[in-house]
Amino acid sequence: MHFDLLIKGGDVIDPGGHHQGRLDVAIKRNRIAAVEANIPSAAANRVIDATGQIVTPGLVDLHTHVYHSVTCWGIHADPVAARSGVTTWLDVGSAGAYNLMGFREFIAKPANARLYALLNISSIGLTASTWELANLNHCDVDLCTRLIELNRDLVLGVKVRIDVNTTSGTGVEPLRRGQEAAKRTGLPMMVHIGKGPPELDEVLPYLRPGDILTHCFTGQSMRIVDPKGQLFDGVRTAWENGVVMDIGHGAGSFSFETAEALLTHGYKPDVISSDIHQFSIHGPLFDLPTCMSKFLALGMSLTDVVAAATVNPAGVLGMQQEIGTLRPGALADVALFRIERGNFTFYDVHMNERKGKELLRNTLTIVNGRELPHLSDPPPAPWIEPTDFQRELAERGLTPAAMVAKN
Ligand SMILES: [Zn+2]
Repeated sequence: MHFDLLIKGGDVIDPGGHHQGRLDVAIKRNRIAAVEANIPSAAANRVIDATGQIVTPGLVDLHTHVYHSVTCWGIHADPVAARSGVTTWLDVGSAGAYNLMGFREFIAKPANARLYALLNISSIGLTASTWELANLNHCDVDLCTRLIELNRDLVLGVKVRIDVNTTSGTGVEPLRRGQEAAKRTGLPMMVHIGKGPPELDEVLPYLRPGDILTHCFTGQSMRIVDPKGQLFDGVRTAWENGVVMDIGHGAGSFSFETAEALLTHGYKPDVISSDIHQFSIHGPLFDLPTCMSKFLALGMSLTDVVAAATVNPAGVLGMQQEIGTLRPGALADVALFRIERGNFTFYDVHMNERKGKELLRNTLTIVNGRELPHLSDPPPAPWIEPTDFQRELAERGLTPAAMVAKN
């Protein structure tokens, strides 16, 4: 067999495809053709030398906001995709019924990366920073359902953000409506938690197996551990019953304290996702590989961290045969990383610090068998006020990796 592309000599970590070790990855057209030791270079039109690097399936980011120029939160996916290894982006709730067609036409269609969406139960989506659930007229189950039916190829579920800043007195009614839309369409619902009210015990009854609790390691009032760091019984039951625990780091939703309380007791997140958006892209989130590196610093194994950003989110989307794996026959989405070793300082959203020894740095990203071109980032949206941390970063012209490595 002759291949189009051969990625040779790398250390493959592919929990979904059950590949691990020094292996070569061969691509034919837009599919993975073979993953084997010592595939001869002569068997391919082009060879990429991956010696000393980690080769993983293209990362699947289960929590992103990429509806740029239309919503408050949206960033451009492609520049980040090309430097982070994220090949599949799930935009969660930026689009509602009224602006989903714009997401398809102006964002998903021209993108180099693979884009999908969860449809916000609110018809206005995340046009503004918040309050999308404050007017129940916007939470129209029939309309949400109709738009999903018309866009099954693009929409993979329903999104509801539940906290004090989104609901403004409407309580869990938007959640009930989100669940109704998810039930009618047979799709999962992702629920965001933050600062209550409503509180967590009002939210949990609406989560069914396969639904996703995002911001699961938040340090805000709806956090899933009690003040002693013990996982709440109701959360344990939901988790055991198949509710997916998703990180969604973002700008306000990841606490080292919560993470340590859970990891100490063996509770690893099912999915590590970024919640990358206008307020988090300039740190301390930066991007998904930096977020994954925080979990390495917290003691999770590299294989577990890669699984949480590849096969696990692909499985949540029911796409584990196609993405998040190097299984022959799967789509040829591949990421290469160097592991930089040194003394790194990582920050959570409360600017608490933890030290780490390893930083995942993406070197190449392939979607559909093609290398993504490097693109420069557009400037921040006009409404973005940098934090002190972000200002220092910009003034010193530091890259994210240099910033976390500054000590
Ligand atoms: Zn988000």
